[in-house]
Amino acid sequence: VSTRRLDSIDSIDHLSGQLTVGSGATLGDVQRHAAAAGWEYGVDLAARDTATIGGTVATNAGGIRVIANGMTRAQLVGIEAVLADGSVISHLGGMLKDNTGYDLASLLCGSEGTLGIITAVRLRLHRPAGATSVGFIGVSSYADALSLVEVARSGGARVLAAEILDETSMDRVCEAFNLPWPFRARVPYALLFELADGGDGSGFENLAEHPAVLGDLVVALQARDRERLWEYREKQAEAFSELGVFHNLDVSVPLPRLAECAEQLRAQAAAMPGVIAYGVFGHLADGNLHVAIVDGDPDSYAVDRAVLECVARFEGSISAEHGVGRVKAAELHLCRTPAEIGAMRSIKAALDPAGLMNPGVIFS
Ligand SMILES: Cc1cc2nc3c(=O)[nH]c(=O)nc-3n(C[C@H](O)[C@H](O)[C@H](O)COP(=O)(O)OP(=O)(O)OC[C@H]3O[C@@H](n4cnc5c(N)ncnc54)[C@H](O)[C@@H]3O)c2cc1C
Repeated sequence: VSTRRLDSIDSIDHLSGQLTVGSGATLGDVQRHAAAAGWEYGVDLAARDTATIGGTVATNAGGIRVIANGMTRAQLVGIEAVLADGSVISHLGGMLKDNTGYDLASLLCGSEGTLGIITAVRLRLHRPAGATSVGFIGVSSYADALSLVEVARSGGARVLAAEILDETSMDRVCEAFNLPWPFRARVPYALLFELADGGDGSGFENLAEHPAVLGDLVVALQARDRERLWEYREKQAEAFSELGVFHNLDVSVPLPRLAECAEQLRAQAAAMPGVIAYGVFGHLADGNLHVAIVDGDPDSYAVDRAVLECVARFEGSISAEHGVGRVKAAELHLCRTPAEIGAMRSIKAALDPAGLMNPGVIFS
């Protein structure tokens, strides 16, 4: 099923700050439509020009603005969808307060196409945060990186993004795209902040002198320079995937245990036989790590399973953003109890008794 032609974008309801769009419109189209009318859509990710709004809702996509706006579910006011029996549910009136029974929009959001086909959504928009500065900071540990997120938050500027990249991820992207190492000295971790500070770099003033900052602080004020710093983060997947079979694990861990888990994942990846390259990077403040491991074996799932089992030992989630799909369906029990999986299966059986919608997805 393709939803690409369901690409209508209605005019913005300025009174409520909401917008109704067809599920086939791309995320980029919605962002541009909102921006042209003085608004902002709260979700952003590197696949913006290929990902459809329906796809981002079906996967409850996160991305680089979760720290500021929450995930896709937090932007969703209403939904229209076709269920397995052909009935159409439509609730696009845009009421923020509506406690009449189950919230079907939230239920379908993140259901990965297993409960119905989303055809349109009603989205909440935000007022733009204004001009921003982007800064790259070297730190020696995850603990220091997390303490700097707190420092940034306590300053006057709103934190729009807080991303972390370890040394091997930085080396990989520099090598793949011929980018210069951005600091004067080597650092074990690079922390990328985007702050809504009027675009003059003032948001970084209380960070510059902080003892957790290793060496120099690189701040970009111009649009082109901001993009250049973001390249180190946004090109990570591409940088790893060109080397061989790319295992791209997307996990989350409770923040107090993040540092320990990340170190264990790195050590584990380094010790795996046949590994060509590895790195850990991700959305720091959300506790969301992307574990990139490249090897040469197209049939190997052992690498993935080892990462997911490690994350489960830290009581994390085996899928922070990308969903369970078919590949991780057999591992759902690592982070969901039998009672939870039983309740989910009951919902699936009630709405799709013949199992027509994305069979094999989420449940093995
Ligand atoms: C370079 C890159 C960077 C990315 N970065 C991030 C990131 O930072 N954060 C993040 O969360 N994700 C990220 N993603 C994943 C991204 O969220 C998904 O690719 C996107 O949300 C899916 O949109 P799509 O239209 O491509 O859906 P597809 O990939 O086509 O589908 C995804 C799933 O949703 C289902 N689906 C799609 N449309 C509908 C619909 N209308 N109704 C019901 N089910 C539907 C499909 O059946 C499938 O199960 C990234 C992807 C890429 C390629």
